[in-house]
Amino acid sequence: MRLDEAGGLLAAESARYAAMGWMRGTSGNLSVVLGRDPLRLAVTASGLDKGMLEPSDVVEVDFHGAPVRGQPLAPSAEAGLHARVARVSGAGAVVHVHALAPVIAAERNPGGIVLQDLEMLKGFGRPADSRVVVPVVPNSQDMRVLGDAFEAGYDPATPALVVARHGVYVWGDDLVHARHRLECLEWLLRFTNAVEGGA
Ligand SMILES: [Zn+2]
Repeated sequence: MRLDEAGGLLAAESARYAAMGWMRGTSGNLSVVLGRDPLRLAVTASGLDKGMLEPSDVVEVDFHGAPVRGQPLAPSAEAGLHARVARVSGAGAVVHVHALAPVIAAERNPGGIVLQDLEMLKGFGRPADSRVVVPVVPNSQDMRVLGDAFEAGYDPATPALVVARHGVYVWGDDLVHARHRLECLEWLLRFTNAVEGGA
């Protein structure tokens, strides 16, 4: 995929998430894999309103999340974790948003959020009668620390990671696949929060 093509897709998806209230301020970031040998990702640029991105508001990064070549915009500070997730999971797209439900669920379940016997698990890629534990890792400003914590608890069957007091990462074959998974996971976490008490 070309960088400008990826930029158009990232801008359109970002606008949808912003409209959902999941990318408030300039928070959150999305990425799509451009190539695998070597690994290259297109990541939304840092510090911009995600509801108003242009296709050019994108940065190409390497497997460390560092920009390749001279590019005018800075990549998201969290590009390093996107690259780590794409490398370890083989995903084609990684989405990270600051939705509230995952953060509340992690606050109540710092050892992992259990989801069980729920129809919406199918939209997350798991059978409705399965038991899924969504990993929770402590927040950090160091992407290597976050990446190590992600990899330590990585389960190939569970395409999500919640960062406590921060937000959620979900990945899939492409941006639409990742969004469908995230939409269903967010519903599942809202349900869990409501059942456990409070919204
Ligand atoms: Zn974030």
